[in-house]
Parts: sequence; C-alpha cells; structure tokens
Amino acid sequence: FQTLRLILGDQLNDNHSWLKEKNDKTLYVLMEIRQETDYVVHHIQKILAFFAAMRNFAQELQNKGGHKVFYFTLDNPENRQDLCKNLELLIQKFQIQKFEYQLPDEYRLDKQLSEFCQKISIPSQAFDTEHFLSERNEVSKHFGTKNYLLESFYRKMRKKYNILMEGDKPLTGRWNYDAENRKKYNYQVSVPNEPFFKNEVTDLIKTLQKHQIQTIGFIPPNNILNVPISRKQALQLLEHFVSNLLPHFGTYEDAMHTQEPHLFHSQLSFALNVKILHPLEVLQKAIEAWQSNPQKVSIAQIEGFVRQILGWREYMRGVYWAKMPDYAKNNYFEHSAPLPSWYWTGETRMNCAKFAISQSLQEAFAHHIQRLMVTGNIALLLGVSPDEVDKWYLGIYRDAIEWVEITNTRGMSQYADGGLVASKPYTASANYMDKMSNYCESCFYDKKKRHGKRACPLNSLYWEFHYRHREKLSKNQRLGMVYQTLAKMDKAELQKIVEQAEFYRKNSENL
Ligand code: FAD
Repeated sequence: FQTLRLILGDQLNDNHSWLKEKNDKTLYVLMEIRQETDYVVHHIQKILAFFAAMRNFAQELQNKGGHKVFYFTLDNPENRQDLCKNLELLIQKFQIQKFEYQLPDEYRLDKQLSEFCQKISIPSQAFDTEHFLSERNEVSKHFGTKNYLLESFYRKMRKKYNILMEGDKPLTGRWNYDAENRKKYNYQVSVPNEPFFKNEVTDLIKTLQKHQIQTIGFIPPNNILNVPISRKQALQLLEHFVSNLLPHFGTYEDAMHTQEPHLFHSQLSFALNVKILHPLEVLQKAIEAWQSNPQKVSIAQIEGFVRQILGWREYMRGVYWAKMPDYAKNNYFEHSAPLPSWYWTGETRMNCAKFAISQSLQEAFAHHIQRLMVTGNIALLLGVSPDEVDKWYLGIYRDAIEWVEITNTRGMSQYADGGLVASKPYTASANYMDKMSNYCESCFYDKKKRHGKRACPLNSLYWEFHYRHREKLSKNQRLGMVYQTLAKMDKAELQKIVEQAEFYRKNSENL
C-alpha cells in the first residue's frame, strides 16, 4: 500500500469524499483500542455502540465500497492498544509512504495526531471530516473579542444556509419560538412507539469482559443494543422522528415524565456524533416534513429543532475550539465537592435524580432537560467540582464526545466558564421540577417545604446557592427576581434555609 488513511470511531461518514474513489493502494484503518476504552470510565453501552458501529462501517467499506480495510479488534494479538503505536506498526508492516487522517473533533486526539505527524518520517496530511456546517474557528471569528451569544451565531447560520428565511428576514418575522415550547406532558397526545434495533452484541460484551474493561451502567437487555449503528438504522430513526415526533418536538421539549423517558426527542445524537448522519440531511428531512404538512408540523416545532442542530450543536463545537484547552480548567464558582456516589447507582430518595440517573444507567441516554435541569442542576447546587461532573457526563452517555460534552456540562450546566455559554446559571427548585415533570408526585421529599423534615433539598439548595454566590451573580440582570426575593426574605427564614442547605450539602451522600 502507498497510503494509510485513519478513520476514527466517530468518523463513520460513508459520504466522505475519500470514499468516492476506489484505490487498491490505499489502506483504511479503524481501531478498537484500550486508549479509547480507558481515557474515562464509559457506560458499557457507549463502548458497545461505538465498536458495533465501527465494525459495521468497516464491513460496508469492504463489501459495498470495495475498499481495503485493516480493522484492529480489541482481541487482535498485534493490537498495541494505542493509536500511534498501531499506526507505526502498519506504516512499517505495509511500507506505507503517506499517512492521512481526518481532523479529530477532540482536542486530545488532535494534539496526539499532529504530534505523531511531526515525528514520523513519511509525509502526512489532515483532511476535513466534511461533517459540520461551520468551520472550527467560525464561532471565534464571528465574535472576536465580543461576548459570545448563541442567538447571534444561530441567526448567522440561518442566513448562511438560508433555512427558515425570507431573504435576510426570518420566515414569519420571528427568529425564536422558545417561549411556546414549554409544556408539561400529561398524556395530551400519546408518544408513538419507537423503532427497535435488534443489534446482538454478545460477542462484543464477552470481549469487553475478557479484557476487564472498567465500565458503568447495565448491559442491554438480552444483549440486544437498541441504538442505530448503521446508516440504514439511523435513517429509519430519522424517518420515525420527522413523521411521528417532530409535530410535538418543540411543545414538549422541556418536559420530563416517568412513563415516557424519551417523549418527543429524536435520539439522533449518537448517529450524528459518529457521523453516520449528516446534520444537513437531518435538517432537510425535518424541513421537508414541515413544508409538506405545516398543519401537522407547526413553525414552532421546526424552529425548535433547527435551533438545536444548526444553532446549539455548531455553536458548542465552535466554543470548544475557541477555548480549549483552557476551557477544561474553568471553575468559576471554585466548586470542589465530590460527586455523590448515588450518581453511579441512582440510589437516592430524590425522585427526579433517581429517575434520571437510573434511566441513564439503563440505556446510556437521557434527554436534554434531564441532563441540564436534574443531574446538572443538582451537581451545581451541591457545589460539585466540575472535573467530577465532566467525568460523569463524558462516561455515561452514548453520545458523549468531549467537544459537545464539556461545553454542555462545564459551560451550560455548571456555569464554570462564568457565563460564556449560558447567560445565567441553569438552576431550579422543586417548583420548576413539579411544573415540568411528574417526578415530584411520588417523591419522599415535600416539594413545598424549604426547610424542616423531608423538605425537598432542591428548595434550600437553590436559595442558598444564589445567596452564597451573590457577589458573582447578583448583578446579572436575568437573576433580578431571584435577588429581589432574597433581599425581601425574612432574616430568620433565610437563616433556616442556609442551615438546611448546609446540612444537605454536608450529607449529600444520604440524599
Ligand atoms: P434532541 O432533543 O432530539 O435534539 C436534536 C439534536 O440537536 C441532538 O441530537 C443534538 O445533536 C442537537 N442538540 C440539542 N441540544 C444540543 C446541545 N445543547 N448541544 C449540542 N447539540 C445539541 N449532547 C451530545 O451530543 N453529547 C453529549 O455528550 C452531551 N452532553 C450533555 C451534557 C449536559 C450536561 C447537557 C445539559 C447536554 C448535553 N448534550 C450532549 C446536549 C443534549 O442534551 C443532547 O444532544 C441530546 O439530549 C441528545 O438527545 P436527542 O438526540 O434526542 O436530542
């Protein structure tokens, strides 16, 4: 072979221009390696989903695409379990003359590969992944030294791709329908059955066990991994979403329900993040569904969805590349508490946390509001170290890749960047939880009480958090109401709240 081309586990894009040409002199390599299974403790289903999708992709490259592929299974005795060592091995073994790779989305791998290329004696070249809708540095270029703001970047992207636009004005005159997308779910409409993907992964599970890879979460029931791991499955999930879920996506976007853990969310994040699906095709399908039946899919629903893919997803990637590696050290509130051990078991009496965590352990998935307003909110109010929070999020979700995990976790949910991503900390007391979910209905704690026996921890923690951080937050205009209420609060009442919160923080293990 002349050329060695690396395809990382999150680069499974079969529409990449690399693959348009067949060439017997080019060898593609994919690797299952300990470097990747061990850089954080992952959910077992996350590793299974990555490896199963990679195996499937490699097979299709060979069978349908007619390409030459070298696939390192975890078991391969030649596997040195390290990205660069395996590359060195192949370069020698096949007397490779040129090394090529697609730009990684993670800082860690980007650095590792560029250092590797400087070290080797053959020429190398990096290629775009042809996946994202903005350049790596588009966010930093757009804002320069100005304050970052999703809304401004999102509008730029709407114009750039001419999506939901009429000339340079937003279609219908409005950019944003967020305010209409905040309904509680109460069985007003039923949630359609999801497609079920019967991916049998018994062999892979055995391999992970044999190698004693440390994981969290549960093995999928009957060893069947219900995650879209091929293009065919991902397209089926997309079709299900645009036909059945999109009509209610925006309306119930912020809702949470014990009987309907996914509600109308697409669950497309894994397929998108490993690049089985392209964000533009996802947007196009959704827009087609809206255009062909605006009675069924209202503008508020489609705008809500476009905002997530064209706005948030691209914005977070841009923030990541603008601010790494320093971003990973941000800790605005100087939080240092440990993450309570029930984050790894779900064994807490707080029903909201119990549901969100147990569901995450069962399926390596929770939807946005569960991540932000339940597990993220509680960690923030308890003052947990952002390093610990990041490790948990990076491990537990099947869609967790650092560029999108850390910006959401450290930025959006922990406000550790001091307000770069979020204009105020996302915090909530029992009032919000009860308004947006049915979690409080069967909870051990009393949602109405701020202190005293069985008082919902979220209530005292919420007020004490804002009181404790008043120097950093009280000038934030979006928190005006909170600080007005605190200013008016009876001193004795505030004292009781603070004591209750301090007790809960000290005893966070027993919540
Ligand atoms: P839907 O609700 O159906 O939304 C559609 C798509 O929009 C998603 O698939 C995703 O690609 C995109 N999207 C929506 N919100 C965001 C967002 N805030 N940032 C980036 N893309 C977004 N997403 C990940 O992909 N990987 C992560 O590791 C991750 N970690 C998160 C951690 C925290 C603390 C929070 C608050 C959010 C995190 N998110 C992450 C964002 C979001 O929660 C998930 O993308 C979403 O829940 C995936 O489910 P879905 O595909 O059903 O999304």
